[in-house]
Amino acid sequence: MTAASPKIPMPNPFYRCAGPNCGLLKRSTDRWWLMWTSFGEYNRPLLYLCPWDEEIAAREGTLHVCGELCAQKLQSQYMGNVRENDLRRSTG
Ligand SMILES: [Zn+2]
Repeated sequence: MTAASPKIPMPNPFYRCAGPNCGLLKRSTDRWWLMWTSFGEYNRPLLYLCPWDEEIAAREGTLHVCGELCAQKLQSQYMGNVRENDLRRSTG
């Protein structure tokens, strides 16, 4: 335990939760989650969820999520969007 803080490279220390009506700022000790969407091998939209990883967090399009509740909200939002797109496709 030393008082001196070593210089750790931090590309972007200010991560903000992507959850609706949240916007919490991430502190270095918080255990957050990461979410992102992608088209998988079946050419269908997929939602990814994984524990915090600095490398993935810095990637473009990654959503930073403070906890379970915000992850659930984003999942629900995602499912709504997919359903909407499906409806739009089927109704022309
Ligand atoms: Zn949040």
